Amino acid sequence: MTNAREYDVIVVGLGAMGSATLYHLAKRRIRVLGLEQFAPLHNRGSSHGDSRIIRETYFEHPLYVPLVQRAHELWLALEDASGKALMTVGGGLMIGPADGSVVTGTLRSAREHNLPHEILSSDEVAKRFPAFEIIGDLVAVLDPRAGYLDPESCTKAHIDLAARAGAATHFNERVQSWDAGRDGVRVVTTTSEYVAEKLVLSAGSWLNTLLGELQLPLEIERQTVSWFEPPEPAASYQSQRFPIYAYEFKPGVICYGFPEMAKGVKASVMHDGRIIRNAEEADRSVSDADVRPLRTALQDVLPDLSRSPVRDSTTCIFTNTPDHDFVIDFHPQHANVLISSPCSGHGFKFASAIGELQADLVSTGSSRFDLTPFRLNRLRKS
Ligand SMILES: Cc1cc2nc3c(=O)[nH]c(=O)nc-3n(C[C@H](O)[C@H](O)[C@H](O)COP(=O)(O)OP(=O)(O)OC[C@H]3O[C@@H](n4cnc5c(N)ncnc54)[C@H](O)[C@@H]3O)c2cc1C
Repeated sequence: MTNAREYDVIVVGLGAMGSATLYHLAKRRIRVLGLEQFAPLHNRGSSHGDSRIIRETYFEHPLYVPLVQRAHELWLALEDASGKALMTVGGGLMIGPADGSVVTGTLRSAREHNLPHEILSSDEVAKRFPAFEIIGDLVAVLDPRAGYLDPESCTKAHIDLAARAGAATHFNERVQSWDAGRDGVRVVTTTSEYVAEKLVLSAGSWLNTLLGELQLPLEIERQTVSWFEPPEPAASYQSQRFPIYAYEFKPGVICYGFPEMAKGVKASVMHDGRIIRNAEEADRSVSDADVRPLRTALQDVLPDLSRSPVRDSTTCIFTNTPDHDFVIDFHPQHANVLISSPCSGHGFKFASAIGELQADLVSTGSSRFDLTPFRLNRLRKS
């Protein structure tokens, strides 16, 4: 091929996962190109919207704890390197029935990894966090190391520092196709062609459009989030008195939220969204009908907030695997193509660590983390 620009690695998609991978590759002086179909920090994927929860006790599975611990260290390192505030640690309440999956899963991960935590009754919660009025038989587990990240600032920091370390970044340039052989990969975009030794596909909900015959059983799910007006007394909704929370209001279904930030008090219901064919198809307007289930869920834990006016709402996209674990693995036919990023709605907190481990995989072929649960072959079986 002639006139194709050469790189060591090409990263497709500069959302949370791609931008972190770009940064960790560039830091190692690897010649890397990041290609993104939209403008920087756009709102059509999965990585926008002011805030993302990070928590150390992990009710989904204890296997995520070492990964989030490494991510926590790397977010602090990114704050140092960028000079920007990215993470706020103010604690988190995991609320639900004592025998529900959130409370039992949180306690299991805390005990297996010896993590600090407190079990609080509804009275104790009300004393310490006055906005919360959780109904009598619910239990809350306090994770003191939980908090939230600013996703736009995190992604921007990764992209800016990657560029400073020598990465090339091309925005508004969509990858149309790629092919791979023993001696490298060739990537064709809407404006050019590039060759590299290796390719990382971190295309979020667009991943299957880049996988040809290797179609993964992914579900694209439309989510809505809303920012409420803080009820009086507004001080009860500020971060010093209002931790992040996840409340299991139906078996296996949670609502979650954050303290007051610039746009208001953000909350959402997780995994009750419409399944759509692709992100382009998502209805981006948010109606009262979208917010109603959230108001109902909040009644049991934050009754004043559940009645408060909504200031703003937005939509966002989940890319779900059948077991809700991640995908991080090499392409079964091409050892120089790494496939990543379907994170089933809980991946942002890990992005810094996933960027680092993907840079390890691409440059050394291995990672210090056990990635067995994220392999592709378990999806083919499922
Ligand atoms: C409403 C909502 C709330 C969430 N809350 C949390 C939370 O509290 N905590 C948490 O840890 N996680 C949370 N998540 C999950 C987390 O945000 C996602 O797992 C993560 O942001 C996914 O990042 P990504 O890089 O895989 O995807 P994306 O950010 O979508 O990035 C993929 C990128 O690839 C680009 N792309 C795709 N195809 C091409 C192509 N052909 N050419 C070039 N570029 C391409 C896209 O434009 C996009 O920018 C939430 C997600 C949503 C939607």
